[in-house]
Amino acid sequence: MKFFIRTPQQRAPRLGVLKDIDNRPNVEIETPLALLHTQGGHIPHVTHEVFKLVSKDPQILQIPLVSMHCFRETMTYYDGTISEFIGSTNSLSCLTLHDPSNLTKQGHHIRNKVPIWTKQGKVLYDPEMYMDIVESFKPDMYCLLSDGDTNMTSAQKRISKAVENTISLSRQCLERHKKSVQLKNTFVICPIAGGYCLNAREKCLKALLADQDELNGFLVDGLHNNGPEVEFLPFEEVRGVVEFTIKNIPPDKLCSMQGCWNPLNVLKLVQLGVDMFDTSYCRILTERSAALTFSMEEEEGSESYEINLRQSKYAYDFTSIMSSCQCLACAKYSRGYIHHLLTVQELLAPVLIMIHNIHHYLKFFKKIRECIENDTLSELEHLISDQYKSHQEKILSGKVDEEELQGFLNNMGDIEF
Ligand SMILES: [Zn+2]
Repeated sequence: MKFFIRTPQQRAPRLGVLKDIDNRPNVEIETPLALLHTQGGHIPHVTHEVFKLVSKDPQILQIPLVSMHCFRETMTYYDGTISEFIGSTNSLSCLTLHDPSNLTKQGHHIRNKVPIWTKQGKVLYDPEMYMDIVESFKPDMYCLLSDGDTNMTSAQKRISKAVENTISLSRQCLERHKKSVQLKNTFVICPIAGGYCLNAREKCLKALLADQDELNGFLVDGLHNNGPEVEFLPFEEVRGVVEFTIKNIPPDKLCSMQGCWNPLNVLKLVQLGVDMFDTSYCRILTERSAALTFSMEEEEGSESYEINLRQSKYAYDFTSIMSSCQCLACAKYSRGYIHHLLTVQELLAPVLIMIHNIHHYLKFFKKIRECIENDTLSELEHLISDQYKSHQEKILSGKVDEEELQGFLNNMGDIEF
């Protein structure tokens, strides 16, 4: 797989394409894109068969190692790729370390190892063990092993250690990659650590850019510890460090970021030159029973940025989640029915909400690509900014009712304070 820039401007905002994929000469995937976030090999609440009703376009599944560690031994006996193993033969795959929708525990660092928090507890991965699993999973793209355990509050000592570890871990993985026959054509993404310290980022970049010919893309790592709180990260806090990192990455390489970034921040990050995100944001919305209803067209109009279907006001609402949406959930079911399913804790409720949210989020990325093409990205940003900001004001001014607030609190359940 290779990355090509399609727009005359090399930096941002830009259109690109991933193509020259092994065994799939006709498949081309356009960027900016969102990887399909999975847990245990499946999009949360949506099976691969059901997803075929959401989109027929070729997709790249984000496979967090943390949720696939239990298949490690089985995969050593399995000849196929990880996409085949999980029953999604038409999809491509991208192996990442942590699950962006769950908060990653901090600390527990041991020399030359990275802690992965699986359901069975802590597992320490060193570069050899990690590359063994990469070779047995045979993903189409993967991130090198890194220490991204930094955030806005990290001390300088932790940041320096994260950079030192990331340089050492990534280099060891890359040495193994160069010798690997199985991974000859696999797309390699190199993480850049360094928290919010530009000097630390520079040090990490300088060390890892020495091998840039072997690398296909970069990951701006170490900005957060994943989980729902990423939705509320203020863009101005991350702007400087993302801008600096991207400025120092070779322009012909793919630039990716992981996490539950809200659509407004996605737009701002695209304008800095980020090419690849993921759909973990749809999962955290669905867990709080919220459906995205923001409008992407000026004339479309929108009642709000998102609606919480748990609210009793939807009990007798027989309209669809969004009248202009063509997804399966909006075509067949009403808000009132989904509210009823939520009330009786029927599992179909999150399935229908997730179908709508993923459909809407992928449509949003398609709209971003169209707007880059037509040079109208700032108009889209204004439109979404107005809707997102009025939604945030509603939350901050306490105008959300108790049911909606409960949805937010439930969602923050796995965050440790
Ligand atoms: Zn829909």
